[in-house]
Order: sequence, then structure tokens, then C-alpha cells
Amino acid sequence: MGFNVAIDGPAGAGKSTIAKRLAKELGFIYVDTGAMYRGIGLYMLQNNIDGNDEAKVSEAVGDVVVSISYENGAQIVLLNGKDVSGEIRTEEVSAMASKTSAYKAVREKLLDLQRDMAAANDVLMDGRDIGTTILPNADVKIYLTASVETRAKRRYDEYVAKGQSCDLSAIEEDIKTRDHNDMTRKISPLKKADDAIEVDTSNMGIDEVVETIKKICKEKM
Ligand code: C5P
Repeated sequence: MGFNVAIDGPAGAGKSTIAKRLAKELGFIYVDTGAMYRGIGLYMLQNNIDGNDEAKVSEAVGDVVVSISYENGAQIVLLNGKDVSGEIRTEEVSAMASKTSAYKAVREKLLDLQRDMAAANDVLMDGRDIGTTILPNADVKIYLTASVETRAKRRYDEYVAKGQSCDLSAIEEDIKTRDHNDMTRKISPLKKADDAIEVDTSNMGIDEVVETIKKICKEKM
């Protein structure tokens, strides 16, 4: 069993930025589970499958193979063997992933992949249900959060930096919808595990957050 750090929290709280940096500093593998759900969401979009139709999505998910590989330490998401790491980073895919991740067949598809990765490696895994469902015995559990306004502004800045056109209020609405979907779904809703440490990053810089969580990890290692 590897040393397992679970980082959960809502969209835009800074999970991936922080987890990537921290994984590098600790020499751990970074596992971005949201990217796996996005891979499945992308498949549904590509095949014109209605995200609101659980039966259709559940049937289609049988044809999906999501796998993960690493190139120079960066996670690559493969959808049926094709690298989709760039394609999954759109608002359309976010919305589809948020809908389809509520379904049992989708969550079951990814559960073993995530658990196997954590069993075989020292990992920093981020998502929504890592501390509650996937790795209930994780060595460290962090619940990373921030205000909706802060999270929307961060997402906006990310898109602008990549040269993508976007609208701040639309991003804020998307984040609110995704928070609602993620927190109210029946299976594995987003919530802080009882033994997770909450870190509110609204008024913290990246370095400060990384140092705070690194300290928590070092104490347990
Ligand atoms: O983290 P990211 O924004 O890339 O995740 C995309 C979507 O995947 C989330 O809105 C959520 O619905 C879903 N997700 C999930 N469980 C996880 C990770 C992501 O349901 N562990």
C-alpha cells in the first residue's frame, strides 16, 4: 500500500494546481480523478448521448476505456487509447462530466482504477469522493474549499491564459450548478470526510496552501 493523500473539494478550489505541485515536491504520483470523469463525459458528447438519460449513458459506458499514463510527470488521459488530455478541458465537457458522474455505472467504472493506483503507488489523489468513498483509509485527507466568486475568477483566469474566450458570470453559474449536482447526488456526493482537514484557500496564495498541506503530510509520513 502506498502513502495516500486524498484531496477533495468543489470545482475551482485549487485542487489540481496544489496537488500537482505537492506531488512533485513529495515525489508522489498525482492522480486527477476529475479528468477520468471528463474522459467519460467527452465520450458521451462525441457520441451524441444525452447526459440526462441514465440508461443510455450506463449502456454506453460499457464501450469506454479510460486509462491514465504519465509523461514527464504529467498525467495523460487516454479515452479508448487516444490522448484527450487537452480536449477534456472545456466548459461543455465539465457540464457533461458533472451530469454523468452522478450515475452508478459511471462511478463503478472508475472505482477500481482509482483504488488500484493508490494501492500500488504513493499518490496524491484529487476529486470529490476520495476521502469518503475511494480511499476511506487515506493517510491524509484534505478538504480544499474557497468562495464561489474566488473559484470562478480562478477558472476565468485559467481560460484567458490559454487564450480561450469565456464569460465570468457564465463560469460562476456553471460552478454553482456543478456544486449543486456534486453535493446533492445520491451516490458519493461531495462532502468533507469527518476526519478531513478543511483548508479554505479564498485568501491564500498557492505557495501558502502548498506549504500548509505539505506540513500536514510530513507529520504523518
Ligand atoms: O475536478 P473536475 O472539475 O475536473 O471534475 C469534473 C467533474 O467530475 C466534477 O464536476 C464532478 O461532477 C466529477 N467528479 C466526481 N468525482 C470525482 C472527481 C470528479 O464526481 N472524484
